[in-house]
Amino acid sequence: MPKLDVMDVLTLADSRAIVEAMANTIHQHRDELSALDAATGDGDHGINMDTALQTAVSEIKENEFSNPAQIFKKLGSVLTNKMGGASGIIFGSFFAAGSKAIKEKETLTQTDIVLFFEQGIDKVQKRGKAKRKDKTILDALMPALDVLPIGTTLAEAMQQAAQAAQAGAEETKNFVAQHGRAKYLGERSLGHQDAGATSMALMLQAWANVMQAS
Ligand code: ADP
Ligand code: MG
Repeated sequence: MPKLDVMDVLTLADSRAIVEAMANTIHQHRDELSALDAATGDGDHGINMDTALQTAVSEIKENEFSNPAQIFKKLGSVLTNKMGGASGIIFGSFFAAGSKAIKEKETLTQTDIVLFFEQGIDKVQKRGKAKRKDKTILDALMPALDVLPIGTTLAEAMQQAAQAAQAGAEETKNFVAQHGRAKYLGERSLGHQDAGATSMALMLQAWANVMQAS
């Protein structure tokens, strides 16, 4: 029997902490993320993500929010509007569409988070027309969703999802890029880890760490 724990939910306070934790990890890895992007793209990914996430943190601190969906919606819109490039809207779509899936709920269960990921991934696919193994953020997100329903607590499920995302990001070394600037490298993109999948995996690890601590 899975453990029934009334505290095993994601709260509004957790959502704020998740965005802050995401911003911190991206800031710490900024140069590494830009270096990954430099190998196959234009080298701006770390800066793009860092700038957008710092903005998201200040907007979230300065405004009132009454449920987790509003926080994730704000994160999505800031990524869409502040990240720049073609990829901002792809990253933003995941959180914006995910936030729609959880409606106005005050606390989120594991089932809600699964829905969040399903809807978010669906939107990323519709927007960017990528599929798994195309060397994009989907290579972190889709393995995460595969394991998300399995964990017996939300905290455990998120940890497993983050680990799967990290493994998925590393696996992108074996894929030929089919989208974005890296596409122009063709076979020469082999051997390089995708920057976007890496930052998505870092963000999911930050999310999981908050769930573990709460
Ligand atoms: P830009 O490509 O505009 O310089 P970034 O460097 O910030 O933007 O982001 C590049 C990342 O965006 C890639 O590493 C990849 O993970 C992701 N990406 C690009 N195109 C797509 C797409 N069509 N679908 C999903 N993710 C994508
Ligand atoms: Mg770039």
